[in-house]
Amino acid sequence: MNANHICFIVAMQVEAQPIIDHFSLVEDHSFAPHLPMRAWVGGYNNMIISMVVNGKNEETMMDLIGTQAATLSTHLAIGKYKPDLIINAGTAGAFSEKGAEIGDIYLSGKHIVYHDRRVPIERWERQCIGYYPVWDVSRLAHLGFKTGIVTTGNSLDMPPVDEEMIKTTGGEIKDMEAAAVAWVAQLHGVPVFCVKAVTDLVDSGVATPDQFKANLHLATQNLKEACFRILEALLKN
Ligand code: SAH
Repeated sequence: MNANHICFIVAMQVEAQPIIDHFSLVEDHSFAPHLPMRAWVGGYNNMIISMVVNGKNEETMMDLIGTQAATLSTHLAIGKYKPDLIINAGTAGAFSEKGAEIGDIYLSGKHIVYHDRRVPIERWERQCIGYYPVWDVSRLAHLGFKTGIVTTGNSLDMPPVDEEMIKTTGGEIKDMEAAAVAWVAQLHGVPVFCVKAVTDLVDSGVATPDQFKANLHLATQNLKEACFRILEALLKN
């Protein structure tokens, strides 16, 4: 892949920080002066790397997780940096019945869907699920990561109605941003794929927030390592 500028879109600062540190990225204060989104930029061999993070809610000081902020981040990132490739990196839930384990790294396969936009009316149904295309990660197969259909919704939990939808679409990696990032990338014609580190197994019977907190450190370290290996592989491609 002939990518000069690779832009990471990440929801939470704790997910982004190990990558920012690893590549010694420097904050770009001109990115979005009046908005919560923040960006860091740096060079790596002949590539430019940017990291755009959703930022924090000014009242709670919690990260702006979810599709709303991810949509805006991605639009701003493309406008400012005109990247050749977008990588949506982050943590995610996965399914032990599909062979997932805590700390696993998944790349997005086939397409990205939504699981919480239920509009059972012809054509709108398809539009709401999304089926957003992803960059073909078979070119990274030698890295040995798992691949799966990423499925996005705006809640951390998985009520039966969402579970049903995830079963129907074959979702394997559950997050809160990927479909939004992929939609904006598609609108602008920028290729995109996801790299997701598993913090929780949503079918394990253990409460997701507890798993998330317990495994966040492991997952973000694995995520950083995976992003490094992916960039190395893209350099050689
Ligand atoms: N900050 C909260 C948890 C946020 S988890 C806490 O400390 O408890 C939500 C973030 O992690 C989102 O950005 C989402 O993309 C990702 N995520 C991890 N596990 C998830 C799951 N099981 N379902 C949906 N999103 C998940």
